[in-house]
Order: sequence, then structure tokens, then C-alpha cells
Amino acid sequence: MWHENVEDFGQEIEPDRTFRFECHPGLSCFGMCCATEITLTPYDIARLRRHLSVDTGAFLATYCKTCIDPRMGFPFVVLKHKEDGKCVFLGSHGCDLYESRPSCCRNYPLARVIDEDGKTGKRLIRYYLQQQAIYCEGIGRGPAWTIGDYCEANGLGPYEKANDLFLDIPFTFNGLPYHVRQDREVHSMLFGAVFNFDTFFEKYGRFPHTSVPEDDHEMIVLVRSITLNLMGKTADFKNPLPPGEGKWKFLESHQF
Ligand code: SF4
Ligand code: SF4
Repeated sequence: MWHENVEDFGQEIEPDRTFRFECHPGLSCFGMCCATEITLTPYDIARLRRHLSVDTGAFLATYCKTCIDPRMGFPFVVLKHKEDGKCVFLGSHGCDLYESRPSCCRNYPLARVIDEDGKTGKRLIRYYLQQQAIYCEGIGRGPAWTIGDYCEANGLGPYEKANDLFLDIPFTFNGLPYHVRQDREVHSMLFGAVFNFDTFFEKYGRFPHTSVPEDDHEMIVLVRSITLNLMGKTADFKNPLPPGEGKWKFLESHQF
């Protein structure tokens, strides 16, 4: 998801500092954090749909809602909620898909923020300790974590690698002229290529990369390559807005 004021999400944690956190079923807040908005990256979708043995078309139709970010114009995908307001994957003992849980669930209580300098293209990654979940009893207790240790304990390595590749797509999109970014056909093309990639590849198998990778990381490499190629073919891409527009920051976090 995209934001301008990431500072609203909490207190920045420097890489050499620690934060305290623990989470277990004995806490009275158990599962309350799963009533928030969970934004999925393409790699999250690749892992979840593999866990469920479905393709992206079935996964998105059954478990997700698709939206267009009103400010940036980029499509994004969130998990549906059940009637009780909790995540569609929350079972009586916690997350039913825990080993395939999405990036922002793995990062919690941290928010991972990626910002791109519009002039140099250099990316800055920061972490914030989320402050909105006042019901979360786990923040401020339990073991002290560095960001590195916490990310490793939550298996974030492959997620960060794939998500950072994916970000080339929205950051490139952000350089397109406003009217292209607001075009419904462009949104539809992007949604198909970036999120509904199984269906997209089946439909447009004429692309040079005809074999669909078995490996989820390789799938994101392919998604990135095809989408950047498609965006490069849009009529106005050769005439983007001047640099300096990259003010949106990508946020991997629960949304309250
Ligand atoms: S609210 Fe915090 S402590 Fe409670 S279950 Fe969620 S993450 Fe764990
Ligand atoms: S995917 Fe799992 S951990 Fe994430 S919000 Fe849903 S139930 Fe909770």
C-alpha cells in the first residue's frame, strides 16, 4: 500500500536498536490484529495460491478484494474479511496458513517502508514499530529483537527479495503521466500481469517467456520483466513526468 506520511505508522526503529515483542495464544488479544487490512504483494499471492493448490484466478476471486489506490492509481489486492470482521484465513487456533502468511503479517509489529528518491532512484528502507494497535499486548514485552533477527525468525528473506523486485513496477508506473495512471485499461492490464499472473500467462502465452516457472521467486522475476516491458510499450511512456514525483512510500504493514 502507498502512503505519504509513514511517520503516522509509529516510531522508527534504527537497525542497531532493539524492540521488545512476543505473541502467543495465551494473550487476550490473540487474533485481534487479524481484523486489519492485509495488502498482498505478488510474491504473497504466489505462495498462498501454491499453499492452497489453486491458480491466481481462483485465489483472487475467492479470498481477495481488488482496489485502485486513489492517489497513485496503482491496483492493489487485500484479503477479504469474514462476517465477524476477521481475516478470511483466521481459524480457531490462529492463522490457517501460518507457514505461507503474507509479508505484512510476518513483519508485524513492524511496518517496512520503502521510499525511492525521485531524482537518484536510490531506495531507502526503514522500519517502524506500529503504534495504532493499542490492543496488542505483545508490543513492549518478551525478548528484545533487532530488526535483522526478527526478519530472520519470520522467514522474511525470500519475501523481501521478491517484493523489492516487484517494486520496480509501481515505481516505474509512478513516472507515467497522470492520465495514463488513471486509465482503466492500464489498471486492468496491470492487475492481470502483476497479480493474476497464472491467468495472464495462460491467456497471453505468446510472450517470449512461454514456460511458466515452478519457482515462486522466478515467477516474480518473470512478472516484473513482462510488466516493465508492457509499460514500456504504452504510448506516453517515452514522455514521463519530470523526476521528483516519487513521493509515495510503499508500506508492508497491517493497515488500521
Ligand atoms: S494483537 Fe499483537 S500480541 Fe495479540 S495476537 Fe496480534 S500480534 Fe499477537
Ligand atoms: S493471513 Fe493469517 S496472520 Fe495474516 S491476517 Fe490473515 S489470519 Fe492473520
